[in-house]
Amino acid sequence: MIRPDRIGRAIVLATGLGLSAPLLAAAQSADYAGPAVVRPADSYVARDEVEDRVPRWRTNGREERVLYVHFMDPPQARPGFWEETKRALEYWNEVSGLPLLFRSTRDAPSAEVRFRWIQRFDSRQAGTTDWETDGEGWLRSVVVTLAMEHEDGTPMGDDFLRMVALHELGHVIGLPHSDSPADVMHPGNRSLNLSDRDIRSARQLYERLESEKVSAP
Ligand SMILES: [Zn+2]
Repeated sequence: MIRPDRIGRAIVLATGLGLSAPLLAAAQSADYAGPAVVRPADSYVARDEVEDRVPRWRTNGREERVLYVHFMDPPQARPGFWEETKRALEYWNEVSGLPLLFRSTRDAPSAEVRFRWIQRFDSRQAGTTDWETDGEGWLRSVVVTLAMEHEDGTPMGDDFLRMVALHELGHVIGLPHSDSPADVMHPGNRSLNLSDRDIRSARQLYERLESEKVSAP
């Protein structure tokens, strides 16, 4: 059962159509092979946000937690939507260095993350992420809604869809919006590559948990 204590919704605006940035997952992956030293100044996650326990997935800090992702009725006429969203999941897995691993499943009841598609939003946006927490404030389930068309009825391009999915996956793990257009988590994201700052911010959310764990007797 999903409790009705919805606590958050995040959107990415859907302005502009052109995208040409190549996906540099392999190159970035090599840069993030080891444990990170997080400098808060390089993050858009404020320290008090971490301490106030912004919505995050509970991890034990020692092993990866698998988050099962289910695609609800991906549009048959647009196989690219399914493929691009899976690419976004795999990219986060490869470069984030988080104790979280996205894994797609066909079993809807076991999924913690669900993707659904709608024709278009009434407002000028391309995706939303709605999350729900347990009684202690930990994330329990997340639903990402992606549009198939821009507000004027223009079909979403595959690259645009992946760009939106990358951004929404940042919200899925608990990231807030960034104030820099260079980051995927900027509300008007135009990037297909997580920035160093995106990754540092994400790691700050979860490394804080690790240090709490380590400091326990
Ligand atoms: Zn957003």
